[in-house]
Parts: sequence; structure tokens; C-alpha cells
Amino acid sequence: TTAPAPLADLDTEALRAAHAEFARAYDELKASGLALDITRGKPSAEQLDLSNDLLHLPDGAYRDAAGTDLRNYGGPNGLPELRAIFADALRVPVAQLLALGNSSLTVMHDTVAQALLHGVPGGELPWGHQSISFLCPVPGYDRHFTICERFGIRMIAVPMNDDGPDIATIETLLATDDSIKGMWCVPVYSNPSGAVYSEEVARALVSLPAAADFRLFWDNAYVVHHLSDERPEPIDILALAAEAGNPDRPLIFASTSKVTFPGAGVAFIGASEANIAWFQRNSAAQSIGPDKLNQLRHVQLLRDQDGLAAHMEKHRAILEPKFAAVDEAFRARLEPWGAGAWNAPHGGYFVSLDVLDGCAKRAVQLAKEAGIAVTPAGATFPYGEDPRDANIRIAPTFPPLAELRTALDGLCTAILLAETEALLA
Ligand code: PLP
Repeated sequence: TTAPAPLADLDTEALRAAHAEFARAYDELKASGLALDITRGKPSAEQLDLSNDLLHLPDGAYRDAAGTDLRNYGGPNGLPELRAIFADALRVPVAQLLALGNSSLTVMHDTVAQALLHGVPGGELPWGHQSISFLCPVPGYDRHFTICERFGIRMIAVPMNDDGPDIATIETLLATDDSIKGMWCVPVYSNPSGAVYSEEVARALVSLPAAADFRLFWDNAYVVHHLSDERPEPIDILALAAEAGNPDRPLIFASTSKVTFPGAGVAFIGASEANIAWFQRNSAAQSIGPDKLNQLRHVQLLRDQDGLAAHMEKHRAILEPKFAAVDEAFRARLEPWGAGAWNAPHGGYFVSLDVLDGCAKRAVQLAKEAGIAVTPAGATFPYGEDPRDANIRIAPTFPPLAELRTALDGLCTAILLAETEALLA
């Protein structure tokens, strides 16, 4: 078809013609027997290779800068040298930044569990003694939502704007619902929209009147994961919170999962002195200390802040063409038909695509039947329910570039077929 118009503007005859063309393309796609996967935000093998020195480090070394024998128990706060490498990026003083185990999701999960069982500083009751809820900017990270679901915490969806979650909505909710005890935030290169919270939004989040035991789960998973030279000004959320008189509101999380090896990296928590003391008291009952040898390996690999930045540039060199491929595919295949709207993030791991309302599930199903696995539609919403059935999360990092291009092209065919089906129904 030449010179296509937005699908929504086509008359029935033109729609039927477009549908026939997409159905033919889809049949060919299915016959080509693909087996591709763009479901999860995992680094590619090429990215993992960047950290292969970890496989032979610490190369006989086992002492930290202070001379402590890291082979033994102890050191519950983690290696000061490693905390120093990440303190600046996370804007947390080293003393209030702990280096822990291999997963920040575990730390977030356990922090919620501790709050449910014991309450948090400033709270009168353990969260678990009340019926509580969390604010969930959408689209968001499915595993945050899974934590809430597992613990029976009610989730309240909040719309995302380009500069972070919608503050007017949050202000109204916080003012009228004191069951709200937490909020999931991915402030830099949000999963999946790529949005970066503005300082104004951050300031509002730490300032708005809320319960004394309300906590921001400030998951800065992608703070050093840039894809362009356009870098957001780092936000010192602890300082903003202290200025606003709510120093204990933010809990900062991060990890090296997408810096080095996911599952074999190091997670961090940073917060006010009171929150850190609370966290230490809880975790002292849980562990005699983290894997300090893995932390030493990471210090040896990354060395310092500049070393970390240089390492992340190597990731960027691998990832930039993949994100460009997503933009190119959607511009070429979806844009002419008005078939979707997506973001071109300056960092992070995802592209968020909105197709025509009511078409996401069907498009993902069609793609799956053609051998292209895409994150289930709805996964980016609490309870897996996208009220518009429009959002699809694209994870372009894992497959090699050629495979990614094939998968994206096939996905576009599936989307166009699903949309013409829906418009003809
Ligand atoms: N937080 C966000 C926003 C993520 O997207 C991910 C992984 O995709 C994680 C946390 C998981 O981090 P970790 O591997 O440290 O558990």
C-alpha cells in the first residue's frame, strides 16, 4: 500500500484492504518459524562480557583498604570502598549507604516485610496491623507490583507524565486516604516509560502532607544507565526530604545488576540515619554480613566513580544501536498508520509502546503465535490489568541486533493486524 493514512481515518473498504495486506504479511511471518524473545530487560551476552574480569577476581586478594579479612563473617554495612563508588551517583553519604546482597528487589521485598511486621520510624503501628495501600505510577515495574500483591497491599494506579508521576492526583489521594503508606518510584529512566522525575516532582513527593510512616521506595535502578549525552541533573532526594521536614520519607535502592552481572552483583540501600538504623536492626537478625568478596571483586573491576562511568559508556555503545532500532522500526512500520505512540528514552532498559486501545493483548498473542515472545500486555499495571489494554513493554537489550530487528518487524505486523481486526469488528 502506498501513502497510508492513520488506520483510524480509513473507510471500511480501505481498512479491509489494509487488513488483507497485514494478514498476508502475518501468514508469511508465521510460516518463517521464528523463535525470538524480547520479554525481559536482561543485558546481552556482549554486555555481560564487559564484566568478565569478575570471573577471576579478586585474584587472591581478600582484605579491604582498612586491612579487614573479607573471607570471614562481619562487616554488615558492606565494603566502604564500594559504597564510595556509588555514593555520588545515588546522592547518599557513604555512612548512610549500605552495600548488601545480590538483588535490590530482595532488599525492597524485605523492607516492606519489615515495615509490615515492625512498622517504620515515625509510625505508630506496624503496617501489617492496618489495611494499607501503595501508590503505583503506571505503566510501572511488574515486580514492584508483585511484592504488593504477595503481601495483600492494595495498589492505587497513578498516571505518569514526562516529568514523573502526576502530582495533582497524588496530592488528592494522600490528602483523602491515610491508608497510603508507600509509593514505588523509578526516578531516573523509569521502567518502562523512560521518564525522568523532575526536581519539582521530587520536591512535591517529599513535601506533600502524608502519613508519618509514608515511604517513597526510590528505586534508582537505572541512575547510571545513560543512552545519550543528555543526562538528567542528579536529584538529592535525601536533602530535599530533609529540607521539607520529612527526612525519613525516602528509601533509596539500587544495584549493579545491569552494571555487571544480574544475580551476581551487589545491591544498595540508602536513607536517613533513622531509617538506616532501623534497617540495620532488622537485618542484624537476618544475616551476619553480606558477600564481601563479591563486593571486593566489584571494587577491583570498577575502581572508582570514573571507572564506573567508563564501564557504563561501554554498555551504552552496545545498547544505543538497539534502542535506535526500536525507534526506526516503529517509525517505519507504525507511524505511517498512526498505529502507536512510543518514547525514545535517554537511558534505562525499556521502550514503552501504546497501541490503539483494546489491541495490546491481541497483538502480543499474535506475536507469540508467530514465535515472538513479548512481555504480556498488562504486566506493567497493578494486578496485570491495563484498563485501556494499550501498553506494550519493549525490552530491546537482550537479543543480538539482527534478531531484535526481525522481532520488532514481526511485532509491528502483529500490531497492525490486531488493530485492523479491532477497527473492522
Ligand atoms: N528495579 C527496577 C526498576 C528494575 O527494572 C529491576 C530489574 O529489571 C530491578 C529493580 C531488579 O533489580 P535487582 O536485580 O537488583 O533485584
